[in-house]
Amino acid sequence: MKLLVIVLSVLLLSLVSTPQRSESADIVFKNGNVYTANDKTPKAQAIAVKADKIVFVGTNAAAQKLVGPNTRVVDLKGNTVLPGFTDAHQHLSGVGQREMTLNLEGTTSLEDLLAKVKARVDQAKPGQWVTGRGWIETHWQPPVFPTRWDLDKVSPNNPVILGRADGHGAVANSAALKLANVDKSTPNPFGGEISKDKQSGEPNGMLLDAAQGLVRRRVPPTTAADDEREVVLGAKRDVELGWTQVQDAGGDYGDVDIFKKLYAAGTLKLRIYKAVYGPGPQANRLLNEGAIIGEFGNRLTVRTIKVVSDGALGSRGAALLGPYSDAPDTSGFLTVKAEDLRPMLIDALKKGIQVETHAIGDRANRFILDEYETALKAVPVSERKVAEPRWRVEHAQIVNPADIPRFAKLGIIPSMQPSHAIGDLFFAPSRLGIPRLKGSYAWESFIKSGVVVPGGSDAPVERGEPMIEFYAAVARKDQKGFSGEGWHPEEAVTREQALKMFTIWPAYAAFEDKLRGTIEVGKLADLTILSADIMTIPELEILKTRCVMTVINGEIVHEAT
Ligand SMILES: [Zn+2]
Repeated sequence: MKLLVIVLSVLLLSLVSTPQRSESADIVFKNGNVYTANDKTPKAQAIAVKADKIVFVGTNAAAQKLVGPNTRVVDLKGNTVLPGFTDAHQHLSGVGQREMTLNLEGTTSLEDLLAKVKARVDQAKPGQWVTGRGWIETHWQPPVFPTRWDLDKVSPNNPVILGRADGHGAVANSAALKLANVDKSTPNPFGGEISKDKQSGEPNGMLLDAAQGLVRRRVPPTTAADDEREVVLGAKRDVELGWTQVQDAGGDYGDVDIFKKLYAAGTLKLRIYKAVYGPGPQANRLLNEGAIIGEFGNRLTVRTIKVVSDGALGSRGAALLGPYSDAPDTSGFLTVKAEDLRPMLIDALKKGIQVETHAIGDRANRFILDEYETALKAVPVSERKVAEPRWRVEHAQIVNPADIPRFAKLGIIPSMQPSHAIGDLFFAPSRLGIPRLKGSYAWESFIKSGVVVPGGSDAPVERGEPMIEFYAAVARKDQKGFSGEGWHPEEAVTREQALKMFTIWPAYAAFEDKLRGTIEVGKLADLTILSADIMTIPELEILKTRCVMTVINGEIVHEAT
């Protein structure tokens, strides 16, 4: 019966989209298991591309009519074709940096961490900094943060700073703290915390959020060549994994200059939808100069200000409405002041600039919804450059159930990262207590409330792999298939919804839903082609699925060998 429906829908599709012109295509992809993410015609066998656009979607037989003497025909041999995947929240140069510095992803214990640091210190010159990122203590025994004294054992002289995977905490050794003049008497900077040893009152090496800056500003700056290489390496990895666009969640115009240079040279193919940090000078520049939209063949857009309103749950920096269940003396902290935010939000509405705000805790989410609501009321549609501003909340992780319907009501988009749930849910019950997990990582509740949920990885906070994200969204279990108490399996999404989370919904959140995000005639030819049918295979097999081909703007930019 199911097969009959598919056959009929493919037949019907071929009737609808029989090519009218005899013009031949540049590339015809045939024998594909195509999911279009377009509800009207969800499945197809073949796609034809001319220049950067899709000109035909339908059956193999009908596509044949578009094959001319110069047409390249690609036999997909039954592989699964999806609209080009978009990572709705990534830090592109951070992904590249992780490739270039000490990559601490997958570190299994404190001893493992120290061994990796020691190996790097042994190769370093006297006094040279050792920097790295990617450790996470959740599965260590015991699951506690490393300290300066741990690091001092393997690096008594070289300064060391190692970022926790989430980017909201770092551990520094004594040499680094000394260079930064951080001691017992150093006050916490606004939006950050210098962790102290409970007995001695000495800094224990852990620096949370803004406090990391005290040490990081002593690290010698990277060269322009390093910065470029980070982008090249990050983009290479992304394209190989099947991402066709990343929405780069924060940064500055220095990044934009690098992208422009690489695009102009033809070395960068990945699409980048870039945000710059605000409030502050970067946001002011965007507000004054206006957006950059669709440059370099619709590859580069800069129209968004990224605000950070709190820290992360793992490091207890997320701003909660009540105290942490496992640390009753704290409820986290906000990292932006309302008086700095307000004038910027008003200005952004008048000038048609999008705003996206990092909000993890329920207090941060309520705070930013309140601020967005105030600004939206203050600037009526008639005074806005863009009537429907599509403002976003990045993460929207822990949201009081009363606040979930406010997103749809205000037209705010929750941009969420499925892998955060399957990583965080190991420690979230102790941080939050079981009752507060209702409304946490609540993808399905959000979708039901009437909003779209663009999906992202937040790499290098997470690994940044589309198959891990897709699996996490539909399974809501860890990578071994485990799900614990309070994980709320009912918040998992269907495969059709997950497909939209990485295709048409991020396109909507970037004002590009008319341009890309589905496999439809007239849209940009971005395709992600996979080794298995992730819409039907058993959940755990999604994790074994590989990207076999990536197409951006009608160009095959990656082909697995
Ligand atoms: Zn992020």
